Amino acid sequence: MDASPALGFTPAVGELAFTPQQRSLLSLVHELGRAKFAPRAAQWDEAASFPFANYEDLRQAGLLALCVPRADGGLGADYATYMMVAAEIGRFCGATALTYNMHICSTMWTGVLADGIEMTDDQRAEHGRRRALHFRRVVQDGALYAQPFSEGSAAAAGRAPFGTTARKVEGGWRVNGRKIFASLSGAADYYGVLCTEDKGDERPDVRDTLYLAVPATSAGFAISGEWNPLGMRGTVSRNLAFQDVFVSDDEQLMPRGVYFRGAQTWPAMFFTLAPAYLGLATAAYDFTVSYLRGEVAGEPPVKRRMYPTKQIAVAQMRVQLEAMKSLFVRAIQEAAPNPSSDARMRLYAAQYSVMEGANDIARLAIRTCGGQSMMKHLPLERLYRDSRCGSLMLPWTAELVLDRMGRETLYQPGEKDD
Ligand SMILES: Cc1cc2nc3c(=O)[nH]c(=O)nc-3n(C[C@H](O)[C@H](O)[C@H](O)COP(=O)(O)OP(=O)(O)OC[C@H]3O[C@@H](n4cnc5c(N)ncnc54)[C@H](O)[C@@H]3O)c2cc1C
Repeated sequence: MDASPALGFTPAVGELAFTPQQRSLLSLVHELGRAKFAPRAAQWDEAASFPFANYEDLRQAGLLALCVPRADGGLGADYATYMMVAAEIGRFCGATALTYNMHICSTMWTGVLADGIEMTDDQRAEHGRRRALHFRRVVQDGALYAQPFSEGSAAAAGRAPFGTTARKVEGGWRVNGRKIFASLSGAADYYGVLCTEDKGDERPDVRDTLYLAVPATSAGFAISGEWNPLGMRGTVSRNLAFQDVFVSDDEQLMPRGVYFRGAQTWPAMFFTLAPAYLGLATAAYDFTVSYLRGEVAGEPPVKRRMYPTKQIAVAQMRVQLEAMKSLFVRAIQEAAPNPSSDARMRLYAAQYSVMEGANDIARLAIRTCGGQSMMKHLPLERLYRDSRCGSLMLPWTAELVLDRMGRETLYQPGEKDD
């Protein structure tokens, strides 16, 4: 893509009126991505192994604390800034961008998002004390947090209580249950688990959802299962089991009842998986342009740009990419607590168009570049496989987003058919 004069490159989100912090963060991750993450991406994919070296770079650059408030020693980035940074990382390594999301959300949900959720004064004070501990772990110890919600039930879709439970005991909680698809398995120091408070009355309720950090060293905690998927292989998203795991009260990442309120107040918190895929789409488009110009490093300098069909194909890819980016940017700029129904529809539309669009662009890229472009030594076939995963991510899979949009358009809240 053309270069932005201020940055020397065009970021995955396109040219915007960036703040000085956004400009400097985008430059930082673009350089890390170009020089370090892109050359390493094939190795994580091939072995389905976690990108530890990339995380060491992110740690060194202070980027694990991107969304930790400045007062707690972090970089204090807001929601939109995180989304721009993650899209830039996704351009060079999808698995790194996606796992970075799980980690960053553990600090963003407890940080800037929690600030916009209604709490009592006591809850606010309790939350302030506890999150300071988590922020310290990230800032001082470089700790990594995972975000395992999925269980293979309707819970991760937000339609049923989590089967993983936590019972209140002296000084903390006893956690029991299992999770699937836990990205950062074996790499994270803490697993930010969503579970249902077991109140002993056998009536689990989504309002009693708890958000607890389980230390990786906890007795009764185990990781199991094969990890050999189609794409996003470097996320290493295996199964977790919790058997009578004790976690102290301080591991509560949000006060009781606040997660449920937060999910309703801040729907944009579920849009944070999208930037990894916008980055992949940008990478597929960029590759196509270089390939047709005969400029891919290490490849014969064969030009294919003179064919009108290729020119039209590139133009169509750009039209689709611009539509995705425009929706994405508008959605991140207007993300806020309690969005209007119009803004909420746009958010769903942005999620749908990025998650479905990323794979579409990768598909068009392969079709346009041709057979030689899908060889394993080139990134396109990996981008194609990685991008396939976006619309499967709960709670906002492509299907469930359409489901929500249709229902919420045709029914007012509380409205029913006779
Ligand atoms: C690379 C990768 C990394 C991941 N990392 C994480 C992670 O770190 N943490 C985490 O918690 N999860 C993670 N996930 C899991 C992801 O968010 C989904 O939970 C998972 O893909 C769902 O797979 P499933 O087969 O269990 O879906 P199922 O629950 O079997 O659903 C299948 C499909 O049915 C539809 N569906 C589901 N529920 C409903 C419903 N109630 N009504 C109507 N339709 C419905 C959805 O469209 C869904 O795609 C990851 C997934 C991938 C692919």
